[in-house]
Amino acid sequence: MIPLEEAQNRILATVPRLPVATVSLADALGLVTVEDLAATEPIPPFANTGVDGYAVRAADTAGATAETPVRLRVVDELPAGKAPTVPVGPGEAIRIMTGAPAPDGADAIVMVEDTADEADRGVVVIRREARPGDHVRLAGGDLAVGDPAFPAGSVLGPAHLGVVASLGQPTVDVVRRPRVAVMSTGDELVPPGEPLSVGQIRDSNRPMLMALVAQTGCEVVDFGIGVDDEAVITERLEKAAATCDAMVTSGGVSMGDYDMVKLVLSRIAEMEWWQVAIKPAKPLAFGMLHGVPIFGLPGNPVSSHISFELFARPALLQMMGHPRRFRPVTAAVAEHDMRRRPDGKLYLDRVALRRDGDRLLVARTGVQASNVLSAMALADGLALLPDGEGVATGEPVDVMRLDLPADH
Ligand code: AMP
Ligand code: MG
Repeated sequence: MIPLEEAQNRILATVPRLPVATVSLADALGLVTVEDLAATEPIPPFANTGVDGYAVRAADTAGATAETPVRLRVVDELPAGKAPTVPVGPGEAIRIMTGAPAPDGADAIVMVEDTADEADRGVVVIRREARPGDHVRLAGGDLAVGDPAFPAGSVLGPAHLGVVASLGQPTVDVVRRPRVAVMSTGDELVPPGEPLSVGQIRDSNRPMLMALVAQTGCEVVDFGIGVDDEAVITERLEKAAATCDAMVTSGGVSMGDYDMVKLVLSRIAEMEWWQVAIKPAKPLAFGMLHGVPIFGLPGNPVSSHISFELFARPALLQMMGHPRRFRPVTAAVAEHDMRRRPDGKLYLDRVALRRDGDRLLVARTGVQASNVLSAMALADGLALLPDGEGVATGEPVDVMRLDLPADH
């Protein structure tokens, strides 16, 4: 058996970062930038008002209170999007809406809440003194030309995309989104929606792995269920390598398995067949076919899921240029005895998290067997039980957080 970290390190030392692509903002969510982004236009592009109210000369409002208001003549109205045509002269005000350009002459905005209308006489009653600059958002006040917005290696979230758009750019340069082939193998597998014969089971791994690939931010390509025919499997794997950036298969990688995919992969790809010192998900095949990484995950559904989490996900994130690839590990407290037997492996138990004051409690979500996927569905994390006897109620236990994005 090889330690978990060794398997992870060997994979990460092998998988390449994908090349750069220019993508539209609509396709860029979750991708990683490759250059520092600086403002090429001022944001905002012109001085404007941050509130609905009246553009005034601050000096004209000196001493204004609710009891001693000041009256100004309203000479124009400026909704957002309209260019000012008249300046604000002494004793004058312009009705102005949030985002509208500050008109010449005015040096402050009085909030509508601090005014009263004398509409029919074209006069506004100002009930509070304004200081110069009040509620005026200056041109370049968010970003001036040349100001850094965010550095290379940023993972584009919704706000990043908004910033890029505000700089006037319809596209952004990023590490390309990987296309990932997903295939399940096993003669016993039947997709949901088709009748089951004796000895057959549902192909639960393919929808699950396709979702995991999508959740990682990759494009999913469905390669179906591999059949037990050497020529067909060979052709399918070759096609996946030719059209995709990575490949995830489930099943047929355990010791003593004579699945056709194992025979074909051994023949056409450079594969490692590992026994990783973990439970579940001990067997793992990893290799390269024409430069395309292949993750041969075990067939038991819980093993498949956890194997993806531990090996395929960090590797795909690395291919995408993500600076952080591993889920956070948080200190928690066992809500009940979590016993195990010493056997040289790290156990990863499916657990739910519960906040109790400043403590985080963990409890197993069900039977800890590698075929019981329902316990995985209920889990927020994986309790890490190092080789030994496990932990007793109230003892500390580390949890790998499946509910949080990578932090290291
Ligand atoms: P294998 O890794 O191929 O030896 O399969 C281990 C166990 O996982 C067997 O019980 C298989 O029937 C089951 N299995 C394999 N592939 C899948 C799949 N795609 N969906 C659900 N169960 C599977
Ligand atoms: Mg099998």
